[in-house]
Amino acid sequence: MKKFTNPQEILDNTSLVQDFIELTKINTASDENATTCPSSKGQLEALSLLKEKLIHLGLDDATIDEKGFLFATLPTNQTKAKTIGLLAHIDTSPEFSGENVNPQFHENYNGETISLKNDITISPDDYPELKKCVGDTVITTDGTTLLGADDKAGIAVILTALKILQHNSDIPRPTLRIAITPDEELGTGVQHFDIEKFNADCAYTLDGSFEGYLCFETFSADKAIVTITGLNTHPGYAKDKMVSALRHAGKFIAALPQKENPEHTDDYEGFYHPTHIEGGVSEAKISFILRDFDDEKLANRTRVMNEVKEQILKEEPRLKIDVNIQRQYRNMKNHIMKSPEVIEKARQSMKVTGITPVERPIRGGTDGSTLSEKGLPTPNIFAGSMAYHGPKEWISTRVMGLSVCNILNLLQLWAE
Ligand SMILES: [Zn+2]
Repeated sequence: MKKFTNPQEILDNTSLVQDFIELTKINTASDENATTCPSSKGQLEALSLLKEKLIHLGLDDATIDEKGFLFATLPTNQTKAKTIGLLAHIDTSPEFSGENVNPQFHENYNGETISLKNDITISPDDYPELKKCVGDTVITTDGTTLLGADDKAGIAVILTALKILQHNSDIPRPTLRIAITPDEELGTGVQHFDIEKFNADCAYTLDGSFEGYLCFETFSADKAIVTITGLNTHPGYAKDKMVSALRHAGKFIAALPQKENPEHTDDYEGFYHPTHIEGGVSEAKISFILRDFDDEKLANRTRVMNEVKEQILKEEPRLKIDVNIQRQYRNMKNHIMKSPEVIEKARQSMKVTGITPVERPIRGGTDGSTLSEKGLPTPNIFAGSMAYHGPKEWISTRVMGLSVCNILNLLQLWAE
């Protein structure tokens, strides 16, 4: 195998950074209020640009389906090989503006706090990884938008790896299936992912985080909608008549284990998180997200919510309470561990690249959670973006180059 260990070589000889910057200029923020997929026009615009690039590269089966999934293939150059998928998402988080992104280059970064517009600062105290980037080129926003390195860095890394493979046919490779996906940040896009059409043995998302990051463990997630129906009357004459849904909504939240919320939990601890409340005396509706790494523990959260419901109804039988649990996604670990080779190869490729794998559970979900559950094992590998979803987002071009090296080594391991 041809070992890739030098990120500078990648930066010097490819358009990795230019491709990334070009993508950041298109506003691809997903839209929570849209009912379409993709949820925003910008995503389609960027997908079309990428499709052209892939066709230009010789991946002439590149197509965008009606839900905004860009699929393409680079066939193997071996007599027999597996099919490996590489995924990255085109949308950026709707939590912060993605309009008029103006990337700033901090060349030969000196290890100090970076100051941007709007008094935004990025300090190594908050992001210790910055200390490992002294001498690198660090790209940030100008302070007014997010950067979109989540996940445009992942896309640029995939594109660069494809170019290198296409121009060096002596590098052994498996069959590669590429997917650029829409609406990852909404968690809704992946539901439309056509696994059969994609037809890969396993896949990797290149989505965020610092060098070495390898993730195959996510939250298991449910959503709960609690609807409380009370009885409204004139408040001046309400004694023994009024049953306030709103006041009991407060009681419901207060009755849940008070330390098991996002503010008090870390590592492998799960939580109840009321995210939204609306309503009044007659009816109140509370939205919760429930999270745990262990499916059994997650199921217990549903039991606890129903116990709280029964308790409140016992005290006030005139109320109606409906607890509606909706399944979101499950910890990918249980599914991925059925194909341990997927993780083994990722660890091995990092070793070849000269980096130490950092295996940490993600206190959230990825497209890979859903795909792994549906039968396509899909762990996540670093592509470099840090502090994403806000104006402090940053990325080191060295780590992007390293991500390309790592993927090229990984693909060769799969081609053996
Ligand atoms: Zn992402």
